[in-house]
Amino acid sequence: MARRTAALINVLTDDRPAPTTVAEVLRAYGETGSIDLAPRDVAQMRTAAALLREVFAADHVDAAAETLNRLLREHAGPPRLTSHGGSAPWHPHLDHDDDAPWGEWLLASSCLALTVLVWDHQRPPGSVCASPSCQNVFIAQGSGPERRYCSRRCATRERVAAHRRSRSNEQPG
Ligand SMILES: [Zn+2]
Repeated sequence: MARRTAALINVLTDDRPAPTTVAEVLRAYGETGSIDLAPRDVAQMRTAAALLREVFAADHVDAAAETLNRLLREHAGPPRLTSHGGSAPWHPHLDHDDDAPWGEWLLASSCLALTVLVWDHQRPPGSVCASPSCQNVFIAQGSGPERRYCSRRCATRERVAAHRRSRSNEQPG
């Protein structure tokens, strides 16, 4: 659930994400049935993604929790269970009803997923990639050493760049 949040934030951070691209991410994370996204829905999802990004930017669990509490207060309703009329297993929602706009759904469901991660792991639920040329967010996993990059690709690129910098500093000159 939280991985879907990170993937959606990353696709929605593009300048002009196409509704079909956003729908593909939703489908990749298990959304079934027809996904009817209008440009206005994508615009509202972009606003939600920008707010959620603040949770990933927090570098301490206390700051992540404070940001989540603010988002929950301002953008989420009381928890309720739904099975979407019997077409899905019972699961919690914090949006106002099953037909809530996509932006409201994204913000509320992401707050719920990130809240559970903070509760489970007592650390920030995710981070922003440390590569200056990348804006991706990612979910922190397990209890291993803290990850700094969104992907192996970013980690390798930054390692090569650091190596080049240190070599050029060694040149006599
Ligand atoms: Zn990256």
